[in-house]
Amino acid sequence: MKPAPFRYHRPRDVQEAVALLHDLLGRGGHAKVLAGGQSLLPVMSMRLASPEHLVDINAVAGLDEVGVTADGVRIGALVRHRDLERDAAAFAALPLLRETLQHVAHPTIRNRGTTVGSICHADPSAEMPAVLAMVGGYVVAASVRGERQVPASELFVGPLETSLAEDELAVAAVFPTLPAGTGSAMVEVARRHGDYAVCGVVATVSLDDEGRVGRVRAGYLSAGDSPAPLDLSAPVAGSVVADADWAAVGELAREVVPTDADIHASAQYRSQLVAVLTERAVRTAASRAQDGPHRLTDDEGHAA
Ligand code: FAD
Repeated sequence: MKPAPFRYHRPRDVQEAVALLHDLLGRGGHAKVLAGGQSLLPVMSMRLASPEHLVDINAVAGLDEVGVTADGVRIGALVRHRDLERDAAAFAALPLLRETLQHVAHPTIRNRGTTVGSICHADPSAEMPAVLAMVGGYVVAASVRGERQVPASELFVGPLETSLAEDELAVAAVFPTLPAGTGSAMVEVARRHGDYAVCGVVATVSLDDEGRVGRVRAGYLSAGDSPAPLDLSAPVAGSVVADADWAAVGELAREVVPTDADIHASAQYRSQLVAVLTERAVRTAASRAQDGPHRLTDDEGHAA
């Protein structure tokens, strides 16, 4: 199908973009921001959304930069998944970004789709919202009222729904780096690599001052409606990493993570994935916490 007719707008800077959004919405119009179009355009083509106005931000200056500081990685709203995946400084600061991005769709889609767009789309099957929530990141939202920071814990309010106002433009997402002694891992199962996951897990494990297991957290995609991380420390807190009962962490996850059936999997199969993938992710995160940052390659085999 083809999208319903819409008016197309192409602002050149953030001020023009937010003034346009404010004005169009103020006049009772229905306007959507267009970034990579990899989620919005299919939805419009299926007529599941029919905005009267598209505000294309691809010509907006200054939104295509990745900034890395000691505190974190700031990703502009026009940074494509693929650019972030290949960014060596971002990888060094937060290896979880590249590890996860390699599971986001296929390279052609990553060439166009933006990481901030994925976060704004808030699909419970998407990987990057779970990463933002896991690291305690936030989105920088701009509007005619100014800029504000929206923490992930307040951003994701439901499936495909965020707390951003309709006239707000997310200009960046900020992913804080993980503290020393914390390891991370992301694992998922998809029918084909790059498809949306049947189930996926982002996990971190923090060690205490004596090198024993401290805090264990996991966030889920395609299981439950929220990417908010759960605390799964109870079965292993205080254990030596090599002796910890990681399978018990997986079983705890099976008990607390809600799963639904759909055309891809039964709820029971998904719960099994929750248990197995959680065990795998926390085991890996714990060994990385112990052994230091892990090395990864991009999907063409180039070391970072
Ligand atoms: P768009 O499609 O342009 O926008 C998506 C939504 O976010 C719209 O509502 C738009 O108004 C809003 N939006 C975008 N940017 C902003 C902004 N700066 N401020 C405010 N609102 C904004 N994603 C995954 O995570 N995992 C997958 O496995 C996966 N597989 C895919 C497979 C296929 C075949 C396709 C087509 C897509 C897949 N995607 C997947 C989606 C892909 O990651 C998209 O890039 C992403 O969901 C949206 O980013 P975008 O830049 O294309 O946003």
